[in-house]
Amino acid sequence: MGRYPLFADLSGLPVLVVGGGSVAERKAAALLDAGARVRVGAPQLHHALAQWAAEGRIEHLEGEFRPAWLEGVWLVIAATDDRAVNAEVAVCAGARRIFANVVDDPGLSRFQVPAVIDRAPLTIAISTAGAAPVLARRLREKLEAELDHALGPLVALAQRHRPAIAHRLPDLAARRRFYDWLHDGPVMALMRNAQPGRAEQVLLEALREPAPARVPTGSVVLVGAGPGAPGLLTLQALRALNEADVILHDQLVSPQILALARRDAERVDVGKRGGGTHTPQEHVHHLLLEHAQAGRRVVRLKGGDPFVFGRGGEEMEFLRKHGIAFEVVPGITAAIACAAYAGIALTHREHAQSVRLLTAHGKGSLDTMDWPALAQDSQTLAVYMAVGQLETLTANLLACGRAADTPFALIENGTRPQQRVLRGALRQLPALARQHAIGAPALLIIGKVAAMADDNAWFGTLLHDRGAA
Ligand code: SAH
Repeated sequence: MGRYPLFADLSGLPVLVVGGGSVAERKAAALLDAGARVRVGAPQLHHALAQWAAEGRIEHLEGEFRPAWLEGVWLVIAATDDRAVNAEVAVCAGARRIFANVVDDPGLSRFQVPAVIDRAPLTIAISTAGAAPVLARRLREKLEAELDHALGPLVALAQRHRPAIAHRLPDLAARRRFYDWLHDGPVMALMRNAQPGRAEQVLLEALREPAPARVPTGSVVLVGAGPGAPGLLTLQALRALNEADVILHDQLVSPQILALARRDAERVDVGKRGGGTHTPQEHVHHLLLEHAQAGRRVVRLKGGDPFVFGRGGEEMEFLRKHGIAFEVVPGITAAIACAAYAGIALTHREHAQSVRLLTAHGKGSLDTMDWPALAQDSQTLAVYMAVGQLETLTANLLACGRAADTPFALIENGTRPQQRVLRGALRQLPALARQHAIGAPALLIIGKVAAMADDNAWFGTLLHDRGAA
């Protein structure tokens, strides 16, 4: 038999919880949140229940269950660990036409308490009619991750202006479009950005327009996808992927991450084109503009963090100049991720006072670097795009006085199943990298901390030239 879902207004109503342990405590807490007048019946109250009784937040009915406890209550939850007592509660409640729930016993329950995702005033409740509460909980975790916390304030805002919206948009289809715009457009974005005042202003301005929210508003989110392992994506990144109409992604972004995006989102690889050459940056700009102006929600998905050697800065400035709304979701950058997955603490207090993020790529970048500064001891260097430049890099550091036995770790495919960590001493770096055919993407860490990988590398393969280090 199916269940009839309902959300009960229990404010000010007496309810009964039978049991004095931790399960009863959780039930009582939820009932208190709903504003009910909670009575808890048990020989003894444990933990917080005892304190709440002392504070007068709940009423303690002392002793073994008595049917008289049910006098005047609207519903009851039996949460003792004695099945006979629970059954008696259920039977007595039934005789008095009081809704009863017996924890973990759907056969005895007249109602079940669903798994809940709380974005008050928005509440999402999941039930399997008691068939598989664990599955309901799994689903709850999934939705919990997907649903933005700003949804609560957005719904509260919509609630405040509901009469005005209904008055201004009597036509149901138009009103629906307005609510879509509220959720997909700038109002929700402002809520996410913790600007509720501005969000309200935008809503009110839209209501004053001749045709509110007729044109969908396009926007761009610059999203960091992290180093490759899908678990290292942020919740915010996942939410952006779930809402995207178009995803413009780099080649570095792993297929597992793209698979997490909304199924019917259009995916465009702007990392490489037919002949293996990179998409020119101007073309990426052009695509961003074209899709956003057509009213689409665009995700510009980049490996690692968008602002660390990712050209996210240029894209952001371009968007601002063209009046396109944007947000930025940071990602775990390769240096942080590779160090963690190689067991290297980048600023371990015994070995390093600072860490520098550098790139060995780009027009004459190696020529313009401050080598004497980079050669100083007690700092960690994290070098991006280093694979092609290892000879020059090593020669320059050694020439400026960095010790030849300074440890390095070269991390190839960090956080991915095929990760390799090559360990050795600086003077050996180019030769070892050649010998093991290290390829891109790889991140180079130079400094005493790199030696931590020898004992602490916990992921992938460690290649260590003991003779050299
Ligand atoms: N925005 C990115 C960096 C882009 S530059 C970030 O924040 O991580 C590309 C370089 O990043 C690669 O050449 C490599 O040096 C490094 N890189 C990115 N992902 C990596 C990975 N999974 N393992 C090792 N290095 C990686």
